[in-house]
Amino acid sequence: MPKYKCIYCLQTKDEIEFNREHVVPQMMGKYQNGFVLSDFQVCQECNTYFSEQIENNIALDSYEAFLRMQYRDTPMSDGRKLNGNRIRLIGAEGIFKGIPFSVITDKNSPYRVRFESEPMVGIINSIEKQEYDYYSLENLPDAIEEVMKRMKESTQPIINSGIDRELLEPALIEKGYLVDHYTYSEGSVSDLCKELEFMTVINLKIDSIMRRLCAKTVFNYLCYSRGKEFVLDSTFDAIRDYIRYGNWSEQLWFRYSKRPVSTVEMPNDTAHVVGYMWFPENGQ
Ligand SMILES: [Zn+2]
Repeated sequence: MPKYKCIYCLQTKDEIEFNREHVVPQMMGKYQNGFVLSDFQVCQECNTYFSEQIENNIALDSYEAFLRMQYRDTPMSDGRKLNGNRIRLIGAEGIFKGIPFSVITDKNSPYRVRFESEPMVGIINSIEKQEYDYYSLENLPDAIEEVMKRMKESTQPIINSGIDRELLEPALIEKGYLVDHYTYSEGSVSDLCKELEFMTVINLKIDSIMRRLCAKTVFNYLCYSRGKEFVLDSTFDAIRDYIRYGNWSEQLWFRYSKRPVSTVEMPNDTAHVVGYMWFPENGQ
């Protein structure tokens, strides 16, 4: 039986130990005539490692995941939740400003997702702008005079966004917010925002898993376009090792830019530079 060398683990294996590796991971979308490495380049073991340890980590925890939840050809089943380790959506205006939102798939929504605010209590911060400071129950600070004065002047001094009243009320009393006749709204923010559109800020974190996924995509493409022998060269061992095993090397070099890159400063004369661009923008 013929044997082949895997471009990631560099092990020589029987041909049945190889399978197909998509150049662009399918969790980023499926493409017509998408590039595939199917000619004994990536072994099954590496392929499985990548999908279980890298791609599955990102599948519901990235901007790409947020896009898939909204636009995938076959809608995802209801109730899938976007994890908040790499992507956080936070309200950016009015009463929503500062509230972290969970994103959950929902076929009944025209956007296929609904937002649910995390359990928070909002204390009025600006009556004019209708803005609140939001706290989780554990982080609620003691009431100070300035805040109490503002609360007296506001018609809606406190907003409860999803905390049980039995838990919230004693906390508000203990911290000095509920004295005399103060009351607070029972309506949750998610009730208030059902029919509304509002701006959010999306915070993204690019961590090692994300960097390895990007590096794998470009390395796959290099193999696809220049051939297996080219990428088996030992000059690529450092990047190979980083993609497959997560070992960072001083020889490697990553740069990020928020804008398209037309020129890059090379770290040395013999370096290879490969690029990867993704384009998160509203409505895309
Ligand atoms: Zn391998």
